[in-house]
Order: sequence, then C-alpha cells, then structure tokens
Amino acid sequence: MSGYDWYCDSCGIIMNYQIGFSTDSGEWTCAECGCHNDVSSNNIENYGEKPATENQLRYIRKIENLLEINFYGSSFEEASDFINGNEDLYQAKLHTPYNYR
Ligand SMILES: [Zn+2]
Repeated sequence: MSGYDWYCDSCGIIMNYQIGFSTDSGEWTCAECGCHNDVSSNNIENYGEKPATENQLRYIRKIENLLEINFYGSSFEEASDFINGNEDLYQAKLHTPYNYR
C-alpha cells in the first residue's frame, strides 16, 4: 500500500524515503536499524488515520449548512465518504431556487 507514511516499528524512522522502498512484497527491512517491518495493508490501521484535508473540511461545512446534517468523522476516508454520499444532494439543492427547497 502506497500513499501512507510507513514508520519503522523499532527505530521510528519514516521508511518511505529509504532507497528502494517498496510495499509490493508486504515486507520491508528498515535500512536504518535492520528491523523487519510489515508494510502490508493489514498493518495500516496501526499507523493512525490520515486526517481530512482543509479543502474537504471546507466543503463539508458548506454541505452541513445547506443540508442541515452533521459530519462526525475526522479522517480523510470518512470525509471523502461523506462528500461522496452528499455531493449530489448538495449540488441539486444549491442550484434550486430558494422557494422550491
Ligand atoms: Zn528501523
């Protein structure tokens, strides 16, 4: 799995920048300390979630206001699910004259 920062279990260094780093095999030996690390998707949840971006949150605020709903998540995944799930309704409502809402 790429797109994530992988930290060595032993020394805590970010391994993404180590020469030849790849998650293709699901394993990586830290070049710094020689510790063997699991870099498969199974291990991602142990590394914390990627937070929602500023752009996502800005868009979510608009959706919340217009649709009068609330977003309770905080991660990137939750934010994109929320946006994907409400975008159509938001856009439809946004372009509907006020009297017809
Ligand atoms: Zn290490």
